[in-house]
Amino acid sequence: MEHLIEKNLETVRRQMELACQASGRKTEEVKLLLATKTVPIEKLEMAMQAGETLFGENKAQELRSKFPLMQQYQKVEWHFIGHLQTNKVKDVVKYVKLIHSVDRLKLGQALHQQLMKENKAIDILVQINTSYEESKFGAPPEAALELVEQLSQFETLNIKGLMTIGKLGANNDETRHCFRLLKQIQMQIKEREIPRVDMDILSMGMSGDFRVAIEEGATIIRLGTNVFGQRYLPDGYYWNEHITHDD
Ligand SMILES: *Cc1c(COP(=O)(O)O)cnc(C)c1O
Repeated sequence: MEHLIEKNLETVRRQMELACQASGRKTEEVKLLLATKTVPIEKLEMAMQAGETLFGENKAQELRSKFPLMQQYQKVEWHFIGHLQTNKVKDVVKYVKLIHSVDRLKLGQALHQQLMKENKAIDILVQINTSYEESKFGAPPEAALELVEQLSQFETLNIKGLMTIGKLGANNDETRHCFRLLKQIQMQIKEREIPRVDMDILSMGMSGDFRVAIEEGATIIRLGTNVFGQRYLPDGYYWNEHITHDD
């Protein structure tokens, strides 16, 4: 199994290089984040031993249970990529370097309150629902600029860019459209030169569409299946569970 994960990583790295070459980008411009929901610790260790350093979890509880491992590997960085409920922010800010999924003002407020108490700041990305699918979290594209402006008022939140989930099971054109839209929103926000807002990171692209995402400007791609194999839980469990959007 160890062999398999290493092999998968090699394949993915090679595919990333090719996608970069094809679109005239430097390999270093694109980082690989491993999406590790449902993946057992042993497999994470294999990836860490193979030199991977960026890991993303979707749920606070799973993050907490995997956290002890993190301390053995000093270069490892955890990110939060799932839907974040306001009552879970405390756990999440304790462990992660970057939250990819800030998609509403109320969540920004909850984060700010917690961070003020702890007297610290955290890096965030603003998640946009570029596919307009009901089941996906993320702010509507039209609301992106205003949300970024509002979030920028919280001095504990360092806005570093944007994140999206491309339309799944769609053809390349539809997916590409999602990624292009995110890039456009990034440019639009950059032009405003909002104080304290950085727009350098574009987190987009998963196992099925990361090459398209790289072509469209991704700086972080998030891969699970391609590296660790099929998950036993459907993604709906993580993405549009029994919780409401404004929770
Ligand atoms: C699970 C997940 C991924 C990775 O998905 P794969 O298709 O397995 O590569 C990426 N981003 C988010 C937000 C996820 O929840």
